[in-house]
Amino acid sequence: MAAITVNTPDLIPLRTTCPYCGVGCGLLAAPGKADPMADQRPVSGDLAHPANRGRLCVKGANLHETTNSEGNLHHPRVLGSRVSWDRALDEVTGAIRQAMFQHGPGSVAFYLSGQLLTEDYYVANKLAKGFIGTPHVDTNSRLCMSSAVAAHKRAFGEDVVPGCYEDLELADLLVLAGSNTAWNHPVLYQRMKAAGRPGRRVVVIDPRRTATAELADLHLAIRPGTDTTLFNGLLVWLADAGAVDGAYVDAHCSGFDETLVSARARAFAPENVAEACDIPVADVVRFYQWFAETPRTVTAFSQGINQSVAGTDKGNAIINCHLATGRVGKPGASPLSLTGQPNAMGGREVGGLANTLAAHMDYDTPGAREAVAQFWGTDRLPQAPGYKAVDLFDAVHRGEIKVLWIMGTNPAVSLPQSRRVREAMSRCPVVIVSDCVSHTDTTALADILLPARGWGEKDGTVTNSERCISRQRAFRPPTGEARADWQILAEVGRRLGYEKAFAWPSPAAVFREHARLSALDNHGTRQFNLSGLADLTDEAYDQLAPVQWPVTAAQPGGSKRLFGDGRFSTPDGRARFIPVRATALDQTDVSPEKMRLNTGRIRDQWHTMTRTARAPRLVQHRPEPFVDMHPGDLRGLGIKEGELVTLGKERGGQFTGRVRAEPGQRQGEVFVPIHWSHQFTGEGLASALITPVTDPFSGQPDSKNGLVTVTSLSARWHARLLRHREASRGWQADYHTLVPQHHCNTWYLAGKQPEDWHRTITRWLGGAPDLVLEDSAAGTFRAARIRHGQLDGVLLVARDASHLPDTAWLASLFDGRELSRKERRGLLSARSVETEDIGAVVCSCFGVGEKQIAAAIGAGAGTVEALGEKLRCGTNCGSCTPELKAAIEKHRLSSAPV
Ligand code: SF4
Repeated sequence: MAAITVNTPDLIPLRTTCPYCGVGCGLLAAPGKADPMADQRPVSGDLAHPANRGRLCVKGANLHETTNSEGNLHHPRVLGSRVSWDRALDEVTGAIRQAMFQHGPGSVAFYLSGQLLTEDYYVANKLAKGFIGTPHVDTNSRLCMSSAVAAHKRAFGEDVVPGCYEDLELADLLVLAGSNTAWNHPVLYQRMKAAGRPGRRVVVIDPRRTATAELADLHLAIRPGTDTTLFNGLLVWLADAGAVDGAYVDAHCSGFDETLVSARARAFAPENVAEACDIPVADVVRFYQWFAETPRTVTAFSQGINQSVAGTDKGNAIINCHLATGRVGKPGASPLSLTGQPNAMGGREVGGLANTLAAHMDYDTPGAREAVAQFWGTDRLPQAPGYKAVDLFDAVHRGEIKVLWIMGTNPAVSLPQSRRVREAMSRCPVVIVSDCVSHTDTTALADILLPARGWGEKDGTVTNSERCISRQRAFRPPTGEARADWQILAEVGRRLGYEKAFAWPSPAAVFREHARLSALDNHGTRQFNLSGLADLTDEAYDQLAPVQWPVTAAQPGGSKRLFGDGRFSTPDGRARFIPVRATALDQTDVSPEKMRLNTGRIRDQWHTMTRTARAPRLVQHRPEPFVDMHPGDLRGLGIKEGELVTLGKERGGQFTGRVRAEPGQRQGEVFVPIHWSHQFTGEGLASALITPVTDPFSGQPDSKNGLVTVTSLSARWHARLLRHREASRGWQADYHTLVPQHHCNTWYLAGKQPEDWHRTITRWLGGAPDLVLEDSAAGTFRAARIRHGQLDGVLLVARDASHLPDTAWLASLFDGRELSRKERRGLLSARSVETEDIGAVVCSCFGVGEKQIAAAIGAGAGTVEALGEKLRCGTNCGSCTPELKAAIEKHRLSSAPV
């Protein structure tokens, strides 16, 4: 791959870990200087890191653009005013103390994040459960993989991922269930792709034909929610085909017979499965045959399985099939949960979920409460689990929670029914938010804002999806007065009177305590065990190389795979088969007017865009919230691609985005991205459409379900307004989306009423325009304002959004230069004679646009490799190759003789 390298002879790159997805790639980053621009040095993939071996995706490769401190929180704030740390911490401590005294410890709650480091998580859990005495500690990981956690615990007796990334390569049959790895775990996708070989097969199970399906020998576009049916049917098929490993099941498992009887009782013959899942029976049979005949099978699953009202059952339906065939924790043979966040696993390790206590011990683990209380030296441990995320914010809404401390996450955007969540936060007497970012939908509702160190500024560890602990290392000075989260929490602990319990001098000391706790009363009963790291010196912690837990005296180098010997973490050492219900969503009411909702992530963005939107390159791929619909549905509704539509829910909540015709969608279903917040758009929050229904075991919200109506916004005009970043919003529109650029902001706007542009232009541009061009018959209006020779603002209006020009060249003129005569002449046509209009960016690594790709294909570049040779697109992270293939196919179809 083309490496994006650090070229800093004067600075030695530091090894650290990517802060985005659960793949947990190792990076090399150059230490920063006092000059913030000095931090804008590209990072490169770390060849020595086992997760990525030097590979990176486009998000990781653009991290350097997100580390500038512009937009970061610099100082503590109380009720909007800057205060000293001393005053802020007094306010925090006072509020907690008062709530505990007046309403009891359960009136204090913490909402944490998979973005936190393990050391931060450990101190938060110890402070909350151990010394404040509240069980209400939950995390945004609840929205990501808590169903997998519950499934692991039910089947294995512990939340353990038995396999590792290498298994994805070793497998002869790779099943990807509810997992668009090409976009959401791109480096794993690269590894899977590179492992292609004759005889290896890939099955993708997903209602949508995503970019990942490009890898598939078989794509099962099942009806949403029918995964349990598919895997229950597989269990029955395995039994009938004699493919069950009877010796393994007898020796190492319990509950097989009941589970099989339960599956059979529901008539899971391939014909029934095909009908329920809405796929051809031949495809069902092919999948079952492949699974039955391939000992080296890995089933990787993620949010498509987890984010469901039956997410835990779906996970167990998958694990049942692996247990039945004895394929758990063996090379190339295992179920493998892929987590979304960089440290979801670390949060699980310390007990940062409301239903766990600490270090993989639950409240009902025999002896755990007493042992943890003694270890921490406290008598304040809660008796029972606390509220999981959705219930927690319900409790806030009811007024039960008096102090809510949110760390490193944006629940005002990401939790279901976001409007109600915002209402809950505004009702809460004291909301404390620790974050590195200054303005988010959540910080806007904070009473106390605490500046936390961001990526590149903080030091600690994270654990990726394959249990691999890696160091995140600081390589730039902290922003303003920002402090590490663990330091802030420890200081609050000390101010509450617990000096000894929170006296760590460094993250290394926190880690050692965490490692010691993991070994507590652990006589081989729990796999999570870091006793081999409990005595690390500060220097050894600093140098810590990636290592997969457990790490013990017997396994000092860590453990790639677990349970391979058939011994599990249950009291009797046997794994459990779990009979699961088949839950098919009711499809009868789906129609073009009322469609099934699906939500998910996109290739170049992360969470609520608080960091990725700082890298202009990353917003080019999908600049606006969008709605993917099948072309047949669009025809049925009389909606054209590129129109703005509003999705509505019966009980309130709406989402406005631009329609994309997507043949990979099933008819009757729509897909919307989860990333946009009110910082970037008006009504483009996917969470507004999600009802707070949760899985009964995991508490994970059913984020990929619901019925929505689709109506055209019927916009009369569409516009692009380019203004300096500091310019105030002078415009009014029925639709808006902010697209940040390097030197300016571009607003995508639309309105339902006609505008008198000559009257509004002065307000929108902050003064009278210098150049105006209008064609009222065509419905176009263009104007530009120049101040002191420099471009100050541009407005471009058209009746149809597709008639608006590309604005990349205009955006580049806001860099403070004095405009040349030629540039002035090009302003209203929005292009310089020298600048090529490349269209929407497809390859973010090399900035290659769709028009360039179409031209190259037209000139004979008919393969992905030929395009890469000509334009470099697809030759770095490879995430865009499915789109390149689609462009080649589109050209082939359009040029085929009719
Ligand atoms: S695959 Fe994930 S961890 Fe790796 S560089 Fe991309 S976002 Fe970061």
